[in-house]
Amino acid sequence: MKLAAIPILMYHQVTPAPLGIFRKYSVLPDKFAAQMRWLSLAGYRSLTMEDLLRFRQDQGQGHRPLPGRSVIITFDDGYEDCLKYAVPVLEKYHFTAIFYIPTALVGQSSLWLKKEKGIDLPIFDWSAAQDLLSVGFEIGSHSVSHKKLAFLSIEECRQELTESKQVLEEKLGCPVHHLAYPYGSFNNQVKEIAAEAGYKSACTVEIGLSPLDEDLLALHRVPVLGQDYLFDFICRLTRARPLGELLQGKMASMFQQLQR
Ligand SMILES: [Zn+2]
Repeated sequence: MKLAAIPILMYHQVTPAPLGIFRKYSVLPDKFAAQMRWLSLAGYRSLTMEDLLRFRQDQGQGHRPLPGRSVIITFDDGYEDCLKYAVPVLEKYHFTAIFYIPTALVGQSSLWLKKEKGIDLPIFDWSAAQDLLSVGFEIGSHSVSHKKLAFLSIEECRQELTESKQVLEEKLGCPVHHLAYPYGSFNNQVKEIAAEAGYKSACTVEIGLSPLDEDLLALHRVPVLGQDYLFDFICRLTRARPLGELLQGKMASMFQQLQR
């Protein structure tokens, strides 16, 4: 029997004032609200990463199928704007989400973007992270300092993954099992180090729905981008890509067939 696949949505920033250079990763609040409204109307139920782990374990024992329309909502980097513009909307529709945060930058800002793009976006603080946890959201690791893990030495990579997990657990007072690789940078060695550090799931930025038999330390995600219209979002839920890309792919394969 073919296993189902679920969309693990990847957001970064939700803000009414996107900065030009980061516009692709910034979703306007009204667009975000329309997307969540659509999920609710279409009967989607949001799962936590812990739910996904439980379903995967139960699936091995042959019981408890995943509910029909499931979605996981993720936010990378911990941008402060998400507290004001995403969290109330999620709560309105009874959706949960996981926020992946770089522990050395909590309460500060996106220093890596300052170096790369000259922009600096505020990251929420520990008290906000605790508040999110207390109302049913999840917090995951996004490493210590948001570096490309696949390009670090084994020692540096281990430090980024173990220290961030320890700090999160100390500050939040609960176990932390979930990771998103900064920039989606990972390889087999990074995965091994993540497993040794005690992570049970890790999200990449590989685009696709996440099949229920996929490697838990290399989960595909579905990006939701600033330029997406609602019909793109609806397309992404089942095909991972926006309408234009799907049509382009279809046209290209038709063209190839005609040339044969
Ligand atoms: Zn990131």
